[in-house]
Amino acid sequence: MVHIAASMTSTSRSAIIIGAGPAGLAAAELLAEAGWRVTIHERMPNPARKFLLAGHGGLNLTHSEPLDAFLDRYGAARQHLEPAIRDFTPADLRAWCEGLGIETFIGSSGRVFPKQMKASPLLRAWLARLASLGVQLVSRSHWTGWEGDALTFATPDGQRTEQADAHIFALGGASWPRLGSNGGWREAFAAHGAAIAPLRPANSGFLVNWSSVFREKAAGEPIKRAAFSFGGRTVRGEAVLASYGIEGGAIYALGSRIREAIERTGDATLDIDLSPDLDIDALAGRLTTARKDSTANRLRKAGLSPAAASLIREDVRGAALPADPQELARRIKQVRIRLSAVAGIDRAISTAGGVTWDSLNADYSLKRDPRCFIAGEMLDWEAPTGGYLLQACFATGRAAARGAMAKR
Ligand SMILES: Cc1cc2nc3c(=O)[nH]c(=O)nc-3n(C[C@H](O)[C@H](O)[C@H](O)COP(=O)(O)OP(=O)(O)OC[C@H]3O[C@@H](n4cnc5c(N)ncnc54)[C@H](O)[C@@H]3O)c2cc1C
Repeated sequence: MVHIAASMTSTSRSAIIIGAGPAGLAAAELLAEAGWRVTIHERMPNPARKFLLAGHGGLNLTHSEPLDAFLDRYGAARQHLEPAIRDFTPADLRAWCEGLGIETFIGSSGRVFPKQMKASPLLRAWLARLASLGVQLVSRSHWTGWEGDALTFATPDGQRTEQADAHIFALGGASWPRLGSNGGWREAFAAHGAAIAPLRPANSGFLVNWSSVFREKAAGEPIKRAAFSFGGRTVRGEAVLASYGIEGGAIYALGSRIREAIERTGDATLDIDLSPDLDIDALAGRLTTARKDSTANRLRKAGLSPAAASLIREDVRGAALPADPQELARRIKQVRIRLSAVAGIDRAISTAGGVTWDSLNADYSLKRDPRCFIAGEMLDWEAPTGGYLLQACFATGRAAARGAMAKR
């Protein structure tokens, strides 16, 4: 597919962008708008596969909370990402969507979604804009490394070698490798002088050694409106019981702390309050009124779902639940689960680690090769779900493009 804008002259500068995810496409747009000749190389047959998958969950584009609180979600990477995000804020991202004809809305949690709750209309409109700007997208073109200053690509027609005024890498992390980003870039980048923090699963589930009865009964069931606590932090929300363990929004929010504890000590204990709106006395009151009932009925009448009830039973591993309402209330408000390991990166929402900030100049170029820029999830940052991932990918893609434009 080749589109060359009529207004372009042979003197315009050129960029090769590798990776057609949100970071690469965002970089391409800015450069093409500035009159650059832009070619995107993508190893998959189609662009932005992970972005489309994110659309299955509604496509949480960004978050509407105040910018300072928003920036705090990036933890230690805040200082590095802040200039890029202040330059392309969550409000800018919403305005950009509207500019593509995609209306957005703020959900009850403050998260921002496209009204259609999917990614394909937005991606279609975006690709059409890029095509109208003359951006060339070469699919099935797998970047394999450097040959001198030039980039090498494996394509169905054989190996190609290309170079441009700027090379922007937006190759993603290593989660969901079948969608294209598989972390296969690490070796070539290390040899090219970049330091790389190990890629680890982020926003991923954790393994729990459930009993086989529980695993069969509860896998796939949500635990809703609970409070999940670990390491002094409590998150209210939802988790999903999986056959391998536990996953979902509240777990992801505590994920980096849990992951670090497991790396340090080999396991971590998660506390769950299954009835966070009632204190022990109020909950015990509800359990008392229904005292003549079976325990299952008492739990149901106290507002607990069958999955929550199973979780309490799993916590006591087959022992009888206490008949005393105060005791039972205490159990409901402090279910403890031992998490034994982080689930595999294959199914994680995102990746921690990547090219370190020390390897980069402030304009997102590599210190060892200032013509080479890096953006998106292949950089060393992580954030919880809530729209923070896509916002940083868009913002760093644009920041890398600005870096390239500023170079003489
Ligand atoms: C199930 C799921 C749901 C998600 N939901 C959300 C959400 O709602 N909100 C949110 O903020 N984030 C969400 N995310 C995360 C978000 O999708 C990613 O953070 C984002 O796509 C990363 O963008 P990127 O451009 O850095 O990399 P990617 O989107 O991974 O794109 C990188 C591209 O580079 C290509 N590539 C890799 N290596 C090569 C190579 N050697 N040569 C050529 N091309 C190459 C890949 O094929 C890929 O197309 C979700 C992720 C998953 C898995």
